[in-house]
Amino acid sequence: MTQTQSPPDHTIAVLPEHLIDQIAAGEVIERPASVVKELVENALDAHATQVDVSVMAAGAEEIRIVDNGAGMAASDVPTAILRHATSKIRSVEDLEAILTFGFRGEALAAISSVSHLEIVSRRAADDAGTMIFWEGGTRTDSGVAGAPAGTAVRVRHLFFNTPARREYLRAPTTETKRIIETVTDFAAYHHRVGFSLVIDDKPVLKLTAAARPEDRLADLFGARIMEMLVGFSAEETDMAVSGFAGKPELARASRDRILLYVNGRRVWSQSLAHAATNAYGETIPRGRYPFAIIALEVNPHRVDVNVHPTKREVRFANERALYDLIYYSINKAIFSSPRTAPVLELKPSYTSPAQSERLPFPPSVGSDVGAHPSDKAGAFGGSAPDSRPAVDVGAHGYAPVSSTSNTAEPLGRIPSPAIIVDDVANFWQFRDVYIATIIGDELWIIDQHTAHERIQYEAILRRAIDRKPETQRLLFPESFDLEPREWQVYEEAQEAIAALGFEVRPFGTRTLLLEGIPTGLRVRNPVILLRRVLEDLNAAKRGGEDLLKAAAASAACRSAVMSGDRLKPEEMRALFTQLMHTENPFSCPHGRPTVVKIPILDFDKKFCRA
Ligand code: ADP
Ligand code: MG
Repeated sequence: MTQTQSPPDHTIAVLPEHLIDQIAAGEVIERPASVVKELVENALDAHATQVDVSVMAAGAEEIRIVDNGAGMAASDVPTAILRHATSKIRSVEDLEAILTFGFRGEALAAISSVSHLEIVSRRAADDAGTMIFWEGGTRTDSGVAGAPAGTAVRVRHLFFNTPARREYLRAPTTETKRIIETVTDFAAYHHRVGFSLVIDDKPVLKLTAAARPEDRLADLFGARIMEMLVGFSAEETDMAVSGFAGKPELARASRDRILLYVNGRRVWSQSLAHAATNAYGETIPRGRYPFAIIALEVNPHRVDVNVHPTKREVRFANERALYDLIYYSINKAIFSSPRTAPVLELKPSYTSPAQSERLPFPPSVGSDVGAHPSDKAGAFGGSAPDSRPAVDVGAHGYAPVSSTSNTAEPLGRIPSPAIIVDDVANFWQFRDVYIATIIGDELWIIDQHTAHERIQYEAILRRAIDRKPETQRLLFPESFDLEPREWQVYEEAQEAIAALGFEVRPFGTRTLLLEGIPTGLRVRNPVILLRRVLEDLNAAKRGGEDLLKAAAASAACRSAVMSGDRLKPEEMRALFTQLMHTENPFSCPHGRPTVVKIPILDFDKKFCRA
């Protein structure tokens, strides 16, 4: 039965050098962009002030990098392509305090083993340059060449002798994108170095050396993006951070614009990227990531870049301190810069209402928890259809503006919103998700769920922060069991949960007795609400005020009116009014928008009236 396949020969043999290099090449050189990365690093290590990159056929045909750096002595050029040949470290002590990009002496060895390589290099002091060609690591030609000071490296036919690797490459557009990203990464940090990138003879980037990082970023990402970046910097023992944080509007679905540098090296760190994202709090939605350029300068003894051949991953001795440094400096920058509403600007006439006046309709009225079944109050408070608005809108800066005064506004100025809340015909619902109304010159579409989340969130959180939680006691307290994992979350979060108004008592091992929930939450099953809050907190484990906020956001979300709930006109009106009295009316606690506005002018244009 057993038919073991044994290799023909069991003798142990040391692999031939060129095969070792090819294997190693697989680790350092995965794709054309890795070649670009290694060669640009070498140029920067050689103190180049100008680096010109050009590629043909997504780098598969040719990659060429020319720098004006230190160059190499004639005798060094042949050595440079040998494995573990480096001019950058000499001892273990050097390795402990790396400030250059390279040090493993692997890149040129790896590249030469899988391509046709040509290096022309000249030091400024030398009369002539040296030129050497290799094919698959074997020298095929060499000579003396007239050349400008610096180094030119040409890599052709990458992976010509490793077809499997060539197969593994993605579509040319993808590989090209990676090359552009690679050069962009360097250019964003090294603003004093000029860069150019030419792809298939077409110039893609041309960046002149810039005195200030801002100028480089404007060049690279556009002046409009630059206007939306806020600078930050902070310092601690053994470490400093500086950079630019994008306003929340620049948030994107992927993490690829969190550019993180450690001592000039572009690195990736899940935890530090998390610090940057977290610093935005609720201003950006869950699942979206900020635009942030973060440069850390860390005492090289406290960082280990030698974790992985590509050196993309790093290990820090003081990661927690770095986390805090990033978190607090970005947090401060974002929250002290002029506030920007994600959907629309607060109107100039808006003044924040006094604390006590912010929630004119206590959401508690709408609760159906423990309430008598016949007590069918609406989701957003008990204002009867025919009642006058409970808010004097004018007193809060929302002066009802008549259409005549609106037309009197000078052209180009944003008119104050006219919020006429006493005319419920003003609101209509569609798809049981959206509420539409006309405010001034705009059609506003309100997402009923996110809007309600925002209202609930601020109400519960404010009471928690004021240490005046309000609890609606359940008619029938309920006991329930938690899984060990849930129990642990409960133990960590019990203070925050109590602060919000949940009344919970431990009742035996891993059993809780739920006696009350925060006032104003509208839920059918209070136990499920609490369980969901614990689930959410498990997903977002944080401490202190963050934990409280996360718990409040979760409770608000889990109890907010759902899409699919049909609302009565008076409920829509109450929802809208309450929303406008929150501190941050235009996004839900997770950062999703609550309101989208469309200028009526847009419709006029579509109907050819404007
Ligand atoms: P490492 O960068 O880890 O030292 P490399 O294989 O990338 O290893 O390069 C080997 C050596 O070749 C470098 O240490 C450096 O002395 C020399 N070298 C490579 N590229 C350049 C360049 N563009 N300018 C000057 N010297 C270079
Ligand atoms: Mg190198």
